Amino acid sequence: MIRIGQAGIPLSCKGRTNKDGLIYTKEILDLNALEIQFVRGLYVMEEEEALFMNEYASENDVELHVHAPYYINLAGDDEIDLSIEKIMSSAMIADKMGAKTVVIHPGYYGDKTDDQTLKSIIKNTKKLLKILKKEKLKVKIGLETMGKQRVFGSIDEIIEVCKKVNNIVPVIDMGHIHARGDGCLKTQENFAEIFDKLQVLNLDRYLIHLTGVLYQNGNEQYHLPIRKGDMPLAPLIDEIIDKRYEVTLISESPLLEHDAVYIRLQVEKAIMKRTGKDEADYRDLSEIS
Ligand SMILES: [Zn+2]
Repeated sequence: MIRIGQAGIPLSCKGRTNKDGLIYTKEILDLNALEIQFVRGLYVMEEEEALFMNEYASENDVELHVHAPYYINLAGDDEIDLSIEKIMSSAMIADKMGAKTVVIHPGYYGDKTDDQTLKSIIKNTKKLLKILKKEKLKVKIGLETMGKQRVFGSIDEIIEVCKKVNNIVPVIDMGHIHARGDGCLKTQENFAEIFDKLQVLNLDRYLIHLTGVLYQNGNEQYHLPIRKGDMPLAPLIDEIIDKRYEVTLISESPLLEHDAVYIRLQVEKAIMKRTGKDEADYRDLSEIS
């Protein structure tokens, strides 16, 4: 099944709690995924709200993910403990909410070579997973592909860590891959190559971030509305539908839910193109032969 949602509380939702955002995502937007943003500082969510989110999401079939604070460095020797602490604090709440993934930005190369950085990240991710296991948390850690040259996280690097550490999953940020590759995602073949690389991990579902992105010399500058960026959505959707990939598409564009709904309309258009009907539901690919 295709799942679609946005990263954070919808802009058009009057209530500003995560609980309000979840109900709005389901009831007003008719979407079935939400990535909650704990991105700045140490986030605190009351147990009561987390348990409500858990119950509401499972009763209404909304898939939840959590984004941990942006500044984490699993490669920097001095920052490991603080980084692990930040991730664990997000993971504890995520687990209470029944979220599937805690998304993290892995770290920076700093003075290390690419290979040394990879090794540090593998070592520290294993350390993190031990703590997660000791706390008996079911939520998975997701490593995001990153859009700047000085930041660890090309698609190949992320796959390498996921191969070496059990229970780590990739978070495929297409805008970041596109920026890092200086505009490398244009055709269906380009997107197919990304999914082909990921086959080695045997994933049953792909968590994908989508946004338009402005970039220069292989570096992301900022996020744009999807239609203002130069990474096309249609070839990605064609690849997903043709291969029947199970995906969760999260809009990270500045337009948040407006672009999530745009993604949904594009998916439905692609389904209608294949069925010849004038109606489609993004959750249902069964009528495509
Ligand atoms: Zn991110």
